[in-house]
Amino acid sequence: MFSRKLIAIFFIILSVLLLPACGAAQPESATQSNQPVEAQPEAAASTTEPAALEEHDEAPEPGLAAMDLTPVSLADGEKLRVVATSNIIGDMVQNVAGDLIALDVLMPIGSDPHAFQPTPQDAALIADADLVLANGLNFEEFLDELIANAGGEAVVIRVANGIETREFGEGDEEHAADEHHEEDAEHDEHDEEGDEHDEEGRHHHGGADPHAWMTPYNALVYVYNIETALSALDPAHAETYQANAKAYEAQLEELDQWVFAQIETISPEKREMVTDHDAFGYYADRYGLKIVGAVIPSYSTAAEPSAQEMAKLQEAIAEYGAPAIFVGVSVNPNLAEQVAADTGTQLVPLYTGSLGPAGSGAETYIDYIRYNTTSIVEALK
Ligand SMILES: [Zn+2]
Repeated sequence: MFSRKLIAIFFIILSVLLLPACGAAQPESATQSNQPVEAQPEAAASTTEPAALEEHDEAPEPGLAAMDLTPVSLADGEKLRVVATSNIIGDMVQNVAGDLIALDVLMPIGSDPHAFQPTPQDAALIADADLVLANGLNFEEFLDELIANAGGEAVVIRVANGIETREFGEGDEEHAADEHHEEDAEHDEHDEEGDEHDEEGRHHHGGADPHAWMTPYNALVYVYNIETALSALDPAHAETYQANAKAYEAQLEELDQWVFAQIETISPEKREMVTDHDAFGYYADRYGLKIVGAVIPSYSTAAEPSAQEMAKLQEAIAEYGAPAIFVGVSVNPNLAEQVAADTGTQLVPLYTGSLGPAGSGAETYIDYIRYNTTSIVEALK
């Protein structure tokens, strides 16, 4: 059942572009239009027939062939230099590569990816890298400029490439969670210019929801792309990358099933989420939750909520009658206590764009999914 996504990864080449050698600020699309394999991603997007799981194992060959990635020539004992943008992607890379590569991660634990500003040190990492692994889907708004300024020769892979994208707002409010499947493929090609979710000044993504890593199901695609890229650039270790990826994918498949089982313990009429950050669309779509509202973006880091913020929050609580509002982990505990005391509604912290710090219980991607799922189930059950 996973392999429809995985087949789509053949077309990972969409996300491959060789960086301009020095400072040419070419937008991604312009660069890609020079790639001979440009047209293939549309074929991937229009693949509507789910393929059988067994086909997964046959997928890599055409994918690798199409990618046209040249192995990096590494001196004896020299490691492939890899930069991951988010620490979630970094954890996936770690699972595939272990210590066979030299890995750097741009976004620190606990940082807000949407507010991330690269430093000169980040540019230096990019300049030295052989491979940059980014989410794509406009998640890293800083990336094109960073790469253009940094120069270097890194290959850039957008690891979300090949997932079945959803648009912001799909599945919310009046939409049922699962009525969009047929339309998705067509939407994918037309969303590039969209900017539908910035009423609150929080999201400046295009129309496609970038938070694709929020399901282990999509993470399988990420891992496949990561493994394919590593194996192509560092073929000496390809067997290990493939074996590690396979083992990790088995864990992700198990995790996916575990999340289904957990959500099923919530009675169907209670499977509704109110959130403060529209990051759970893929998760809700897959596991049968409904996003009934996204309230109050980013009030959470303020030391004290303003009267206006409190009023808005209380309004939302009254409107939705929700037992819980799911908020970013940086929420002020005092605010959560005050809201619970005033309204009886819990503010439940979830992890979104970053793994948690040591001791949080969300230090790895798998633990992060478990942490969020357990928190959701406990709050809604
Ligand atoms: Zn986000």
